[in-house]
Amino acid sequence: MPNPSGPPGPDPSFAELLAVRPVLSLHAQDGLVMEDVPLAAIADAVGTPVWVYSAATIRRRYAELRAALAEAGLAAVIHYAVKANDRLAVLRLLAAEGAGADVVSGGELARALEAGIPPSRIVFSGVGKTPAEMKMALDQGVAQINVESAEELRILSAVAEEAGRKARIALRVNPDVDAKTHPKITTGLAENKFGIPFSEAASLYAEAARLPGLLPVGLAVHIGSQITSLAPFRFAFARLCELAQDLLARGLPLERLDCGGGLGISYRDEPALLPAAYAGVLKATLGGLGLPLIVEPGRWLVGPAGVLVASVVVEKASNAHRFVILDAGMNDLLRPALYGAWHGILPLSAADAAGSLSPAEVVGPVCETGDTFAKGRLLPRLAPGARVAILDAGAYGSVMSSFYNARPLAAEVMVAGGCWHVIRERASLSSLWAGERVPAFLQKAATS
Ligand SMILES: *Cc1c(COP(=O)(O)O)cnc(C)c1O
Repeated sequence: MPNPSGPPGPDPSFAELLAVRPVLSLHAQDGLVMEDVPLAAIADAVGTPVWVYSAATIRRRYAELRAALAEAGLAAVIHYAVKANDRLAVLRLLAAEGAGADVVSGGELARALEAGIPPSRIVFSGVGKTPAEMKMALDQGVAQINVESAEELRILSAVAEEAGRKARIALRVNPDVDAKTHPKITTGLAENKFGIPFSEAASLYAEAARLPGLLPVGLAVHIGSQITSLAPFRFAFARLCELAQDLLARGLPLERLDCGGGLGISYRDEPALLPAAYAGVLKATLGGLGLPLIVEPGRWLVGPAGVLVASVVVEKASNAHRFVILDAGMNDLLRPALYGAWHGILPLSAADAAGSLSPAEVVGPVCETGDTFAKGRLLPRLAPGARVAILDAGAYGSVMSSFYNARPLAAEVMVAGGCWHVIRERASLSSLWAGERVPAFLQKAATS
């Protein structure tokens, strides 16, 4: 189990973190700048904690991946995995670039539609779709529903029949591959809850072709998240190819292959997964089939585009430990507490960044020891009110936020060139109890 102190070896320095994150730069006067906007200006205006996303970075990464797929000669479309960051502004930006969406709930489907992504470019995935969610997807006419079990296949057929519709489905198969990522985000092992065992897939696909409510159109795999080596992809796609050939040999209809997401990013100093290399693996394993492909990256597109800006509440010395207590906590960014994830942390002020370093535990205010962003992290002295940016927080960040400890959800901002825009307001205190009811028998009695 990794911990927030990260893998062995010294952490990258501030300069090293900045060198590989061209969207950020450190200026003597303005401090840490995203695109052309000083992050301190945003924090001054909307307070902290605040999530800040770079529109140019999301666009650039989308374009880079699309170009790599095209250069490999693949007929591949990118369906952004909405769960990584489902803010309407982020969805709208990607939709405008031409991206489709991969959604895993009725709520994500509603968000994608609200953001203007056409149903014909939406794939509905997920291991536990309810009949109501299935019906919603059918009524909206989504491009494809990815089915994860024989049981779900039969339920979906019945739901579709009753609604008088045909469900275009893909079978999500489980290739039993170790994606060599964190156990909580590996999904392609036989023991995981996801997908249909390979050995059962062909006969189930044939059954789908016979069921009245279904129209099988494809196969899907998704083996996990934050995958930084090509081998697991190569293995999974090669198995997918074999299965596709088997279906075609049986004369079954097969229109496309959904290759899932999982492309990893460099949080600390992991080798970054290069789009050209990923496209090369797709080409080598699946290119020969000549079928259209879908890829579903989430983290890779938006992760490096976001930071979480927080203020230091106070530094505390306790039993020879140095704690830097932030106003952001695990209720905002859960990844360190949930996965032991390592995130870079940079001071916003150039003067702070030049200060002499000593190891610190960077923690949040939440009443849990797990509310720890980093251990043994080299940081300068930080006065109350000093600000830091927690890096690579654009994916699986704000979407995992909660109100725990009655902490209102942080504001969110999108930077575009020299401008910035609030894309979600900081939640108000009264939003903490919005929708709650105190039953009549508990109404405040007059105190005697
Ligand atoms: C989560 C998920 C993705 C995206 O994963 P990333 O690691 O963010 O790229 C894609 N497809 C499916 C089915 C998913 O569940």
